[in-house]
Amino acid sequence: MVDWMADFYQNIEDLPVKSGMQPGALLHQLPTAAPEKEETQSAIFADFENLILPGMTHWQHPRFFAYFPANGSLPSLLAEMLTATLGAQCMIWETSPAAAELEQRMMEWLRDLIGLPAHYEGVIQDTASTATLASLLTAREKASGWQIRSQGFEGQPVFRVYASADAHSSIDKAVFLSGIGSANLVKIPTDDRFAMDADALAAAIRRDREAGYQPLAVVATFGTTSTTALDPLEAIADICEKEQIWFHIDAAYGGSALLLPEIRPLAKGMERCDSFVFNPHKWMMVHFDCSAYFVRDKESLLRTFEILPEYLKTGSRGQVNDYRDWGVPLGRRFRALKLWYVLRSYGVEGIQQKIRDHIAWTQTVEQWIVDNPQFELLAPRTMNLVCFRWTPAFAPESQWNQLNLALLQSLNASGFLYLSHTKLGGTYTLRLVFGQTTLEFRHVEEAWNFILTTCSALESTFQPLS
Ligand SMILES: *Cc1c(COP(=O)(O)O)cnc(C)c1O
Repeated sequence: MVDWMADFYQNIEDLPVKSGMQPGALLHQLPTAAPEKEETQSAIFADFENLILPGMTHWQHPRFFAYFPANGSLPSLLAEMLTATLGAQCMIWETSPAAAELEQRMMEWLRDLIGLPAHYEGVIQDTASTATLASLLTAREKASGWQIRSQGFEGQPVFRVYASADAHSSIDKAVFLSGIGSANLVKIPTDDRFAMDADALAAAIRRDREAGYQPLAVVATFGTTSTTALDPLEAIADICEKEQIWFHIDAAYGGSALLLPEIRPLAKGMERCDSFVFNPHKWMMVHFDCSAYFVRDKESLLRTFEILPEYLKTGSRGQVNDYRDWGVPLGRRFRALKLWYVLRSYGVEGIQQKIRDHIAWTQTVEQWIVDNPQFELLAPRTMNLVCFRWTPAFAPESQWNQLNLALLQSLNASGFLYLSHTKLGGTYTLRLVFGQTTLEFRHVEEAWNFILTTCSALESTFQPLS
């Protein structure tokens, strides 16, 4: 099986990056009940190759340019093999002391690498969604003097949470899961760079106070999902400080870029947040899942999540970090090992070089788009994402949304590359993200040439709408 894994990476470029499987195609081939008798490994593996693999989209493929990447690496893969081999459940220090202490040190390394001050403490969460939920729950508990935990919402004010109109849906989810209510998530308009308008934020808070609401938290995004826009963290920090509001930063994707000293000035103000999350599992070559969550005030986090049944009492409590108290789940995988492996295998410089290359190559593509009258850049590039569209002169602008949809479908059906889309102010927008571990500049060139060729092919079959 390990040989197969090595071959898979050797040959991955020849596989279709996006699965073309039709809905239900696998279900129709799977037995409706579990087998009564044991089956041979060779039979199971043959089915893996024949049934499962064709239905997989290859997230480690160098020409995967869709969404945001979940870029792994060989050191991370090897560490995951060790983690699975040990099969430990690392809920508390006692159930695997090394896992807890390695996690503590890895979070310190990461904190220093992204430029958060030394008084922040971190914990690995499964995803940014969970971290943001933990953040809003902590904000809620702190604001209520830990009353909601024990008494529910009776007698509490109506809390309000603020995020930009381009914030990730995990913010909406955290707001309703925490009982604050979707109606109390205030979406702040964005400016022409798709970043939160800080003046509009201040005005919304003022209006809410006048109306009797209690402003609770602002969630700023460093690298939005649609365009990697950067909310103005410094201005938002000023507002939160003045208004005494919790300040959470969702840097799920963009956080990895903070490993580059030249990017860090863009995040000025982050050193004043209450909590911060970024996903090494997106752009730092650490396998999914691994989300780094940092807080300024560890005690508030623990007070929000702590619960101590008799069967979890230990003699080491208080001297060590029991990470079960640092978030929602009790059980925890040993995730720190893959971070340790990646950081040591590449070194900080090796990781920085990858991220720097990705950004530089994206800059090149941005220039190709700007220089080509058949295309239009639709959002400022901040990192390694370009938002653009095809603007073919042979069709009226009213048909460009349709044509870009057709272009996307045609590109993705090819299996050669995979990209995704968003809508910006009603404009159908193509997104190309260059963040794969195995990406080389030749893949970037191949992809762009393939897009040009596909556009020409679509032009030759174009039929004007009557
Ligand atoms: C990817 C992403 C998320 C969600 O991340 P999960 O770890 O999958 O929960 C949240 N916010 C932003 C800005 C993202 O890019």
